Amino acid sequence: MYSTPLIPRQIRVHLQQPMTTPSVEYLASAHKLEELLPDSGREAAFAGRSNAGKSSAINTLANRHRLAFVSKTPGRTQTINFFSVGKNMRWVDLPGYGFAKVSKTEREYWGELISAYLAQRKSLIGLILLADSRHRIKVLDEQLIAWFAPSGRPVHVLLTKSDKLSQSAASMALREAQTLLTRRYANCSVQLFSATANKGVAQANALLAEWLAPQSERTEKTPG
Ligand code: GDP
Repeated sequence: MYSTPLIPRQIRVHLQQPMTTPSVEYLASAHKLEELLPDSGREAAFAGRSNAGKSSAINTLANRHRLAFVSKTPGRTQTINFFSVGKNMRWVDLPGYGFAKVSKTEREYWGELISAYLAQRKSLIGLILLADSRHRIKVLDEQLIAWFAPSGRPVHVLLTKSDKLSQSAASMALREAQTLLTRRYANCSVQLFSATANKGVAQANALLAEWLAPQSERTEKTPG
């Protein structure tokens, strides 16, 4: 539809963004490493502090109301949840971290589960990190990025709940996060996001589609 060569590729991608809502289906949940789905194909993982807006973001990106459970009780036992977004392509919802009321044993177990998954998973292409746009990037978030970035795989930060900020405050939050993260970590990018106001959805979905596309279909390999 937008295939005219007179339009530069960046603009074509932008025009195509509303069409990138994937067809997402729940596959399975894992409480422990042995329960993970076979490590083949391509995956994008979602991580963030409890209450950062991860479930809401996943639901909005999938255009489904209750695909990921939007919890009002942070601290409940959580699992690694797998969703199919196409043949051999998955989104992986990791347990939220940083909730103080969870017992130390449980916190350590989650940390081990998440870090083992992130360190060992061959099919993992990149990490979507969700952080509340109203707060500066927290120490735990940056620690996760600093630990993951040396793998060479990209981290894309969604600054969530941006509808709660004025336009100028949201722009400032974006600039601050970009300054902090993109200068320190080569493969890190940042955008504003709002599940409530449907902001940044097309941009995030376009990036996820790009990450998960089979090698032969990846646009970064083709000349503009
Ligand atoms: P999770 O713990 O990271 O999965 O976070 P949730 O998706 O459960 O969201 C935590 C709280 O933030 C809930 O009360 C959501 O309704 C609220 N929330 C999530 N996303 C948004 C958003 O884009 N805008 C606003 N205003 N609230 C949001």
